[in-house]
Amino acid sequence: MIKTIYIEKSIKNHPRTKKILKKFPNSTQILCDQYKEIFNRKKQNFRIQKSSPSLIIAKKFNNFVLPTPKGLGIGSNKNYYFSHMLNCLYDCRYCFLQGMYESSNFVLFVNFESFVKSIEKVIKNNLSGEKITFFSGYDCDSLAMESITDFVKFFLPFFQEKPNIEIELRTKSVSIKRILNFEPFDTCIIAFSFTPDEIARKNEHGVPSVKSRIEAMKKLSNAGWKLGLRLDPIIYHLNYKYNYKKLIDDIFLKVPEKSFHSISLGAIRFPRKMYNKISNLYPDEKLLSKHFVKENKIISYPKHIESEIVSYCKEYLKKYIDENKIFSFDPYL
Ligand code: SF4
Repeated sequence: MIKTIYIEKSIKNHPRTKKILKKFPNSTQILCDQYKEIFNRKKQNFRIQKSSPSLIIAKKFNNFVLPTPKGLGIGSNKNYYFSHMLNCLYDCRYCFLQGMYESSNFVLFVNFESFVKSIEKVIKNNLSGEKITFFSGYDCDSLAMESITDFVKFFLPFFQEKPNIEIELRTKSVSIKRILNFEPFDTCIIAFSFTPDEIARKNEHGVPSVKSRIEAMKKLSNAGWKLGLRLDPIIYHLNYKYNYKKLIDDIFLKVPEKSFHSISLGAIRFPRKMYNKISNLYPDEKLLSKHFVKENKIISYPKHIESEIVSYCKEYLKKYIDENKIFSFDPYL
């Protein structure tokens, strides 16, 4: 899969770097001073690169842990995210990463210990003892590249020792073998994102099927793990009522309500600049051209559609789950 690996000189002898390089003995390996030379280079084409992305092994120096955008949360007073990777193995047509980065190459920051130090600092500075959730999987998929990154293997034991701190691993992957090797703990939420099968087949390229993701959730539930369901982004389409109803029914038919820590949902929306970049990559993509309106600097569905789809899904979810476990990001509700 990965043919070329760029390695920052400063971490070429890092044990994690060496371990990764051993997994790709036939790759072309190129040393560089800074990952940004490769990743932020202008006039790269995200879409073309996506067919054969390179891996960039790098060291992160700052901004290890950041507050989540306003309104994103699953019940805690304080919410932070951290990204050991930039970019994702999968290729969802609606993915905001396409509009955020110049490149679709994968950046992996190997200095995991520095992330841990920053997370510890946030916890220590929480003098008021407010509930904290850390999110992983904001700039990548938390599990999809586990066989290369060993992210779960490193971070789960760390969070296992922090009984009052929540960690969400967000994913569309079914690579759950590593997780199943650990004892489950209630403050770790494995959160799966879904769109209905009809939308997923057309728009989620390389992503495990909806059915296999539900199966993965079932296995984790049987093993005692807490789960999240993320209907984010909700996509408006002709059969949206039938399709979202079926998706929700299929999930709750297999996975018991008690396994769910939280459900979150929100309609698709993009900052204007990001939207322009994505729609330039895919000018014929109907998903990106239909129904949208511009309001201030945001491109989204018109208010009435956004409210309609979010409230429809929310109401239907209440058939299965207590309302206080549902978090919706509709700014108009
Ligand atoms: S799984 Fe998530 S991060 Fe990966 S391409 Fe799809 S939307 Fe983007």
